[in-house]
Amino acid sequence: MSSTTAFLEALEKELGSDALSRDPAAHTALAGDWSEAPHLTPELVIKPRTPAQVAAALRCCAEHGQAVVIQGGLTGLTGGATPQPGEVVLSLSRLDAIEEIDTVGGTAVVQAGVVLENLQREVESHDWSFPLDLGARGSCQVGGNAATNAGGNRVIRYGTMRQLVLGLEVALPDGRLLDLMGAITKNTTGVDLKHLFIGAEGTLGVITRLVLKLSPRPLTSTAALCALPTFAHATRLVRDLRRALPGLSAFELMWDDFMQASCKVGKLRPAFDQSAAVYALIETQGVDDAHDREQLETALGQALEDGVVDDVIVAQSLEDNQRLWAYRETVAELLAALKPFAAFDIAIPVARMDEFVQQMNEQLQQRYPQTNHLFFGHLGDDNLHLLTGPYADPTELHHVEASVYAATEEYRGSISAEHGVGVVKKPFLHHSRTADELAIMKQLKDLFDPKGVLNRGRIL
Ligand code: FAD
Ligand code: ZN
Repeated sequence: MSSTTAFLEALEKELGSDALSRDPAAHTALAGDWSEAPHLTPELVIKPRTPAQVAAALRCCAEHGQAVVIQGGLTGLTGGATPQPGEVVLSLSRLDAIEEIDTVGGTAVVQAGVVLENLQREVESHDWSFPLDLGARGSCQVGGNAATNAGGNRVIRYGTMRQLVLGLEVALPDGRLLDLMGAITKNTTGVDLKHLFIGAEGTLGVITRLVLKLSPRPLTSTAALCALPTFAHATRLVRDLRRALPGLSAFELMWDDFMQASCKVGKLRPAFDQSAAVYALIETQGVDDAHDREQLETALGQALEDGVVDDVIVAQSLEDNQRLWAYRETVAELLAALKPFAAFDIAIPVARMDEFVQQMNEQLQQRYPQTNHLFFGHLGDDNLHLLTGPYADPTELHHVEASVYAATEEYRGSISAEHGVGVVKKPFLHHSRTADELAIMKQLKDLFDPKGVLNRGRIL
């Protein structure tokens, strides 16, 4: 760590000694996120209690040229929050207040360190819902969700985090606390600055507070699992269901290898007697249990009759819902089981997704027949996940990443649909962004963080 005595003294004067933790033994859990980026236990962790303290801490870092990495819930999959040599950690964990829930306008004002699941619960107790949902809900923070523009399971209905953020407060490296907290939906008064910080992965500023858009709490939720003969049938099904089911809130696709691995790692009984090429997990949200289930059953009955699906299970209870979602929710266990892995969250135009999966699967199977190659994704929003591992040899892992990302460019997709770039995907960013785009991103970085202290070396 390069932090000098002068830096530490300045920091302590601004924040008080209780905001600084200098015992590396207490920091082992902060050594890295869920990616394969090498872990490093930080020597100094700054834990501000207020947004003003975050801004003051950043100013100290900039003034002393001290590199600092922002940590939310550390569930990221790209190494963005993993400390690099010489960095101190700025943790948002103490900024965990839900400040206000506006039950008239349907908005929530929260601090950045609020854990997503805590917010979901609190909002539901007020008969509203915060619809962003992902497997890491129990640990990830809303600030981290905004910094990575998280997507997840319900984008098909509610959009990504970008669509759910009405306002932000951001601490800048020059010590300013930028107030972009307007809670209004429509505001056409020049450049909408908050969007610069959503998805910027903490390279331009630290998100300290957010105004989030809520939705009326759905009263019911019904899941179904379908077995389908081909990917093309799945694209037909998603189109038909979008038309037939106004409450469609998730359409998650799982290829058979994923399903089998998921059953194994989650100790789940296969849902169907016969395996299928792909499976679709469908969810609708509404207001009337019987009506929703009937609507879903009618739509899927039609799909059966048309030969679009081979088999269907419609949940009849809350327990059934959980049982069906369980097949899709084993990602954390799979990540742990397939270490060292490569985890992809690419976007591929749906019209060519099948071709892409077949090509990649063939290539990977041929070269690494003993390795797991699991495809799944959020079909409603062009988002394909591939989890492949274990790779004992880091050069092999890099080779797999390089070939998948090069193919992504050929298919005019994106190297990241929702997890971000961090350090893991940084060498491949040119597959998704032009030289002009990269140059403008660099100019923005220089504008907000001229000393280059904040999340240094991430994205760019
Ligand atoms: P961290 O990992 O702590 O940080 C992520 C990045 O944001 C880092 O660069 C960090 O420096 C920066 N950052 C964190 N907080 C702030 C802040 N307040 N201000 C500025 N920058 C900040 N992602 C999806 O999009 N969809 C999914 O379906 C999904 N499923 C997942 C399932 C599992 C099991 C796991 C482990 C991860 C999953 N993820 C998913 C990835 C990850 O959970 C999300 O990207 C999440 O939004 C990260 O939040 P975090 O608080 O953990 O951020
Ligand atoms: Zn996802």
